[in-house]
Amino acid sequence: MKMNQKSYQSTRSNALTAQPAQAVLQGIAPDGGLYTLPDFQQSDIRYEDLLKMDMLPMAAEILRCLLPDFSREEMLALVQAAYTGKFETDDLTPAVPVGEDTVLELFRGPTSAFKDVALSLLPHLMRASAKKCGVEDEILILTATSGDTGKAALKGFCDVPGTRIIVFYPENGVSAVQKAQMLTQEGKNVCVCAVRGNFDDAQTGVKQIFSQVRQQDLLQGHAIRLSSANSINIGRLAPQVVYYFTAYKEMLESGRIALGDKVDYCVPTGNFGDILAGFIARQMGLPVGRLICASNANNVLTDFLRTGCYDRRRTFHLTISPSMDILVSSNLERLLYLLSGDAELVKGLMEQLNREGHYQVPDALLAQIKEVFWADYCDDSQTRAAIGQVWREHHYLCDTHTAVAWHVAQQYKAAHPDHAPVVVLSTASPYKFPEAVLAAIGIQQEGDGFAAIHQLEAATDVPVPANLRGLDQKPVLHRDVIDRDKMLEYVLEKAVKPQWNA
Ligand SMILES: *Cc1c(COP(=O)(O)O)cnc(C)c1O
Repeated sequence: MKMNQKSYQSTRSNALTAQPAQAVLQGIAPDGGLYTLPDFQQSDIRYEDLLKMDMLPMAAEILRCLLPDFSREEMLALVQAAYTGKFETDDLTPAVPVGEDTVLELFRGPTSAFKDVALSLLPHLMRASAKKCGVEDEILILTATSGDTGKAALKGFCDVPGTRIIVFYPENGVSAVQKAQMLTQEGKNVCVCAVRGNFDDAQTGVKQIFSQVRQQDLLQGHAIRLSSANSINIGRLAPQVVYYFTAYKEMLESGRIALGDKVDYCVPTGNFGDILAGFIARQMGLPVGRLICASNANNVLTDFLRTGCYDRRRTFHLTISPSMDILVSSNLERLLYLLSGDAELVKGLMEQLNREGHYQVPDALLAQIKEVFWADYCDDSQTRAAIGQVWREHHYLCDTHTAVAWHVAQQYKAAHPDHAPVVVLSTASPYKFPEAVLAAIGIQQEGDGFAAIHQLEAATDVPVPANLRGLDQKPVLHRDVIDRDKMLEYVLEKAVKPQWNA
């Protein structure tokens, strides 16, 4: 056990440390690195004991380990405030058997995306962190979204005292339903703006704003500090560790596994946050076998996890699984750090990525990665085929992102006849991508994306989540569209405005 195990440190410098509450508040480390614990192995919990606990106490216990300056009681209160009555089911993230696999439904929250799991808690965590750190400044959340984070963050932070939130999304990079969800968001402290560019442009823009504002002290005298709701913020990542445990618990209790059996998890991956949460669960002692990284045609991670060469110099594809249309997966940086323990190495690789668009990790590190991770990808036609097949064979309707993971899970099993039981993480409701899902089950679409919702419901009898009903009837409240090099200007202008949506 390392000495400073309760302090977070930057992936790019061991000397840059922060208490957990500070790390949550700052979002990103001042040197551009991501805050992480040096090692998530904790001495004071046993996974066997966690599995005996009820949902919310288990969540509180796991989160207390990850953010150790919160007490058990504090964390339980935050978790209860965040989740009670907000999800469709009491177990928040049900694990459903589909054929011989298990689908972990992470989309039963208030915006029908798995991001709700983390973003329901983050505002509570952020306010509590501010209090712990004696910070009275207003917190301005900046978020880049590939579609789902935006709405979940808007919903989570809507009218939370002491906070405001600006969401940037790629103008043509999100589904019609995702766009409508964001543009109809009410609340006095919320702002949504389209960027002419793709998700990577928006994410890079946000990261640059953090460093420019800090370096030049651009918000000096305004009692405002910036933070992030993206998975670069450890407060966004930590809540996602919980469902790896709850899935294991459900499989145990339903007799699909025995205590101690390994379980493989297949994760539809974009920014590498979700799958990294699985890695953290594994470090905490959960018997996680393989972590299977599923990508769409933007298969930069597939190549990396196979060869150790990360190369973003490639064509960016707009796919039917848009929340995974990403070429720069931020959280990979945390994995490189956790495995190598070498901040100098990570800093060098990240600088090279910025400068040259690629890097290669040392062979020893690649070998460590391959012990845990396996990777494959799935193009749009295979995605559609997977949705169709799962529907016909199992009468289970899945969204495009889940279908990518389902397809890759089948490839994995075929290549590993002695595989452990597989959990496929399901990250969105099929009703967020109704056009693609409708086509995949062989039905001709009539009308727009919203008509497709009704058509899909009529064809499948799978109920539409309440939050997606009547979306097209709601007024559009946000209309801003800007060039990607105008993001800083936009934020500064907004930040000093006392009233947004009076
Ligand atoms: C964000 C998202 C993903 C990717 O998750 P990461 O943590 O970015 O890897 C996958 N599916 C859906 C539906 C998402 O919204």
